[in-house]
Amino acid sequence: MRLTVLGCAGSFPSADSAASSYLVQAEDAEGRTWHVLLDLGNGALGPLQRYGDAEALDAVAISHLHADHAADLLVLSVLRKYRPGGSLPPVDLYGPRGTQKWLARLADKDPGVDASGMFTLHRWEPGEPVRVGPLLLEPFPVLHPVPAFGVRVTGPSDLDPDRTVTLAYSGDTDECPGLDALADGADLLLSEAAYLEGRDDAVRGVHLTGRRAGLAAARAGVPRLVLTHVPAWNDPAETLAEATAVFDGEVAMAVPGAVHVL
Ligand SMILES: [Zn+2]
Ligand SMILES: [Zn+2]
Repeated sequence: MRLTVLGCAGSFPSADSAASSYLVQAEDAEGRTWHVLLDLGNGALGPLQRYGDAEALDAVAISHLHADHAADLLVLSVLRKYRPGGSLPPVDLYGPRGTQKWLARLADKDPGVDASGMFTLHRWEPGEPVRVGPLLLEPFPVLHPVPAFGVRVTGPSDLDPDRTVTLAYSGDTDECPGLDALADGADLLLSEAAYLEGRDDAVRGVHLTGRRAGLAAARAGVPRLVLTHVPAWNDPAETLAEATAVFDGEVAMAVPGAVHVL
């Protein structure tokens, strides 16, 4: 299994990155590569074409219905519907309750960009993992102002064919039991760290800081932490320092195009 960062800017695209989107790929026993998108925030359709293939998706998994995680679903449906070779079949789309209505509101009354026919919608149900080829996707409810999920992805290792590995993606969340359950024993925690210690302490229930992400990684016993969703107005070095002060494992900042092999 490998994780490619498509977009990692927090809350809005930055000058250098689209908003949240991650491509997870793995091969099945027959050697076919499976492609799963975790989130598709504003601007992420661009890097999806650069680092992946917008026409070769087996599933799209949306953590929550904020624009910086889901807005490019609408334009992905345009690309797949109007491509000169003919429309592609609908792709499985996993998301919170209300995903269909949210997409319809984005399209407003324009039937030309109506995304409903381009996706087969499935609602996340906690405790009900879904299988996509060799990958198992399990949603964990997390703490954010709207219904939000972290996603735990389990599948074959790229490094050791005899091993099954787990990637835990926080989505957007503050510290909560769901985050700890999601991350527990994973091989890599991909965690948001949108807030800064000292600056955002008064706001709880929305985002993690680098320190809170590092503490979650330490509690979960994960060996590797990738910090993401850092807004353009933060200094990433500050976020990194917060995490490394409380977590002894390997820590990296997400950057567009980076590939993390599990
Ligand atoms: Zn966000
Ligand atoms: Zn959010």
